This record gives sequence, C-alpha cells and structure tokens, in this order.
Amino acid sequence: MTETLPHPHYRGRFAPSPTGPLHFGSLVAALGSWLLARHHQGEWLVRVEDLDPPREVPGAAHAQLATLAAFGMTSDLPVVWQSRRHARYAHALERLLAGGAAFECRCSRSELASVGGIHRRCVARDASRPAAVRLRVAEGTTVDFIDGLQGRIAQAVDRDVGDVVLRRADGYWAYQLAVVVDDAEQGITDVVRGADLLDSTPRQILLQRALGLPTPRYLHLPLIVDAHGDKLSKSMAALPVDDASPLPALRAAWQALGQAPALLAGLPTVTQAMQAAARGFRPERLPKVTHMTFAAAHNNPVAGAV
Ligand code: GLU
Repeated sequence: MTETLPHPHYRGRFAPSPTGPLHFGSLVAALGSWLLARHHQGEWLVRVEDLDPPREVPGAAHAQLATLAAFGMTSDLPVVWQSRRHARYAHALERLLAGGAAFECRCSRSELASVGGIHRRCVARDASRPAAVRLRVAEGTTVDFIDGLQGRIAQAVDRDVGDVVLRRADGYWAYQLAVVVDDAEQGITDVVRGADLLDSTPRQILLQRALGLPTPRYLHLPLIVDAHGDKLSKSMAALPVDDASPLPALRAAWQALGQAPALLAGLPTVTQAMQAAARGFRPERLPKVTHMTFAAAHNNPVAGAV
C-alpha cells in the first residue's frame, strides 16, 4: 500500500487517461514530470486514470505503459488503476455529503444552459432524474496559487466554474474528485502536468480544503498544440510515439522542454539519452508559456511559443 510508505520530499506522478496511444504532447508532460522528479532525487509514479469507460480505448492503458517503458520511464511503485479504487472515492463523497459540503443535483444540461451554463443553484424541474453530486462553491470564492512555471494563477471559481461535479448523473466519478483523493493518498508532493489542466487546479485545491487534504505544489508544462492552436490529441498531428524507435521523439520532447539539443546529440541508445537527460536537465530552461505549437516544439520552443 503506497500510503504506508514514508513520503519523500519529492514525489511526482504521471496520470494518463487511456483514451488512445501516447501522443507527443503526453510524452512532453511525462518526460517533464519524470525529469523534475529525477532532478529532485524524488520518486515518480504512474497512475492510470481509467474512470470513464465510454471514452476508454481497449488496450490503450497497456499501450501507454509500454510506450513509457520504451523511454525507460517506469513507475517507482506499482501502477495505480483508478478503476479499482471506487470505494475510496465513495468514502470521500460520503464525507462531503455528510458535512454539507456537497449536495445532490438533478439539473439537466439544457436547464443549466438556460441559466448561463454555470451551476449556482438547482433549477431542476424533474425530481425523478438521476442525481449528480456537486461540491458547493460559496459566493465570492477565489482561489489562487503559485504555479512552479506559470507564476500566480487566480480563478473566481464561483463565477467561472460554479458548483463542481464530483459524481456524474450517470454514476461515473468526476476526474476532479478522483485526482484529489489519489494525489493525497499516494503522497504526491509535486503535480507536473500539461497546461490544459491549469484551470482545473483551483477546484482541486478547493476540494482538498473541503476534505482536509494537503495541497501539493503544481507546475503546468506548455501544452503542445497544432498550427490552429488546437490540442494535439484532437487533431491529425496527434501521431502516436513510436515505441520501436523512441529517440527522435525523445529529442523533440527534450527540446520542447527548452533543453539544449546538444546534450542528447550523438547518443545512440535511449538508455544513454535518458541518463544524459536526467543529469543535464535544467528546470530554469523550461519555457514559461502555456501553449507551444508542434512545429515550434521541434525547432526553437521559446521563440515559437504562442
Ligand atoms: N488523466 C488526465 C489527463 O490525461 C491528467 C490528470 C492529471 O495529470 O491531473 O488529461
């Protein structure tokens, strides 16, 4: 059990959703979190976030783990699968419901759309609909935090997000609840992930406070986007990383993280390149941007930042 281990000063993680093969953007996030963990002589864990069966692609989780392994990135503790942890999420939800921090909600999407799309109070007309459960976000709730790369981030969670879904009406757990429960239970000290999750962080912090859990440090890496600014995973450019020949993708991901290409030049094996990367990684070179085009990531990431 991970929770019985003493927690080190630095424990990072990579938490992919098994919605397809690992693409270049995910590789950048995985490599960034791995390099930061190694830089701090910390641990690095992998958690499979397989809580959304309709979006899951059969075999994708194992394929993602195989791709990570092809780069020498393996979890320092056994891989955690969220689909096996329902009881933990149920327990957290019970606590929130019992304490009045969460409530049942039967509002439909269209009912919410008619009041601006942000849930501030229930407007449901059909009391027989299955209920979702939401975290109550008090009027005037603003959360701010210092991101390790992006600096100070503030969000008016009441106005911008509204009451946060914790369990969907279809019975599935919301990512926001599961990620908070698991990051705390696994003793994660440092969450390093793509900037697409920057605006999820304030609600995760709120949820940590409601559950009496510690808040880890956060660092959001640039999201690799296509020329139109769309997330790579939704575009044609989301080519899977080639496990059989990982070096080109590794070199490109290294450059996308703002690191000096020369450090990996001429190294013939992934093992050698990863060792050199771990030794030569300079966190201060990480590009302080939230988005970077795929083309720029392969060339000069800082100049090409959008
Ligand atoms: N599973 C989420 C994703 O693949 C990432 C969760 C996280 O890093 O907090 O987008």
